[in-house]
Amino acid sequence: MNIILLGPPGAGKGTQATRLVAERGMVQLSTGDMLRAARKSGTPVGNRVAAVMDAGELVSDEIVSDLIGEALDLMGPNQGAIFDGYPRTAAQAESLDAILAARGRSLDHVIELEVDEDALVDRITGRFTCAQCGTGYHDRFKQPKVADTCDVCGAHEFKRRPDDNAETVRTRMAEYRAKTAPILPIYEARGLVSRVDGMADMDSVSAQIEAILDR
Ligand code: ADP
Ligand code: AMP
Repeated sequence: MNIILLGPPGAGKGTQATRLVAERGMVQLSTGDMLRAARKSGTPVGNRVAAVMDAGELVSDEIVSDLIGEALDLMGPNQGAIFDGYPRTAAQAESLDAILAARGRSLDHVIELEVDEDALVDRITGRFTCAQCGTGYHDRFKQPKVADTCDVCGAHEFKRRPDDNAETVRTRMAEYRAKTAPILPIYEARGLVSRVDGMADMDSVSAQIEAILDR
């Protein structure tokens, strides 16, 4: 099964993708994570995208579509893909069709996380992750069970994304509204879209997604 999780920054795509990976053995393909990894290792692509990412704008369609193709080629034929943060433009949606078809895959679901935009700034400015294993947390909505200790790996160091600030979030949301939301009708016309209430608590969002995948 291949699915897209669609929603603005902070909607909960990464949170839900991580749960699906744990529960269904699917593979999370997050272009944001791939780009951050490229930056960290100082690859030419990483260096090229740094300023654009820090400004909250979208990097080129070609770069992210190449990353997605490469990541799919590393997956087993029976593993399902969760596209998280991709596609973000109509051109990327078109590329994804071609990329999947070339690999004998197709899309099963596009799941839109519906969220109230006002809540997103709080979600994003409160977001932090374990510096060692990447587990996601939130200042208010998901604190580690033991203070300053990762629930999963026990590490004590956490980090915050430099683009998770109130100012950049506004640009990222504007990009979503202008370039990403318009791709929904493409998938709606193909009968692929299901909507979940992304403002519900994390477990309830997971339950809504599971129900769609089990349909
Ligand atoms: P995205 O991948 O869509 O940008 P994340 O999954 O990283 O979003 O979620 C953004 C922040 O909001 C994280 O800190 C996460 O812990 C928190 N979060 C995710 N889902 C919910 C939810 N349903 N209710 C409250 N907080 C949430
Ligand atoms: P994310 O982790 O999904 O919030 O993405 C962080 C940043 O990476 C975005 O603000 C963009 O600059 C860039 N990015 C991630 N995915 C894409 C994509 N599919 N298309 C263009 N830019 C992307």
